[in-house]
Amino acid sequence: MKGDFVVRLDDVRDLSPRLEAIWQVLERHAVPVHLGAIPIDVTEAAALALRARAERSRSRVSVQQHGYRHVNHGLDKRRYEFADERDAGEQRSDLLAGRAILEQRFGAMFDTVFVPPWDRCGQKGLDVLAEAGFAGISVIETSSTPQDARVPRVPMTTDPVQWKPVAVHRPWAGTLQEIAARLERDGYAGLELHHEIMDAEAAAGLDLLLVGLKGVGLPTMLEVAQARRA
Ligand SMILES: [Zn+2]
Repeated sequence: MKGDFVVRLDDVRDLSPRLEAIWQVLERHAVPVHLGAIPIDVTEAAALALRARAERSRSRVSVQQHGYRHVNHGLDKRRYEFADERDAGEQRSDLLAGRAILEQRFGAMFDTVFVPPWDRCGQKGLDVLAEAGFAGISVIETSSTPQDARVPRVPMTTDPVQWKPVAVHRPWAGTLQEIAARLERDGYAGLELHHEIMDAEAAAGLDLLLVGLKGVGLPTMLEVAQARRA
């Protein structure tokens, strides 16, 4: 299989059993582990456990900033933590407070790629990311987030979950086909995972998917962002 493939884990708070299970699957295939951490929810003890786990990981491990509090400031169905409906100053202080927490908790493991909750970020948020020198932003490719050359994008092409009416993983064979087709067409694919809704069956499905992608390039999200800045 040709092309580059990235896997992102969202809603990381601690080294939970489900995160550990998915981490082991990724390691088995030498896939980099990207921890999209919610800053306010990661305690010092949780960070210690995650750092210790990273030290003995056979995969490369890095931390991304997944919002600040991961709360919805929207009043309708379009959920957001960072969108233009919200005051720019408030967004700025939240973004920078979250960044400071992750720098303090994770040091060099934190790569300064921003992952907005619900894959949504407005221009005001992008301005803060650019001014503060964030390495990039990662959103699903169908996101309304504007393109901004100052903040390179690490797109996610594939969400394996059908969210409504209740969240279920679509059949993994189909997800593999989708990703393989994207790799063939574009030379790149990104898979966003929510490990806390992944049971043993989903973990096994992911394992099979990664078997099917054997030989694909496995850059980190930071490497993708840096390549897109050049
Ligand atoms: Zn999230």
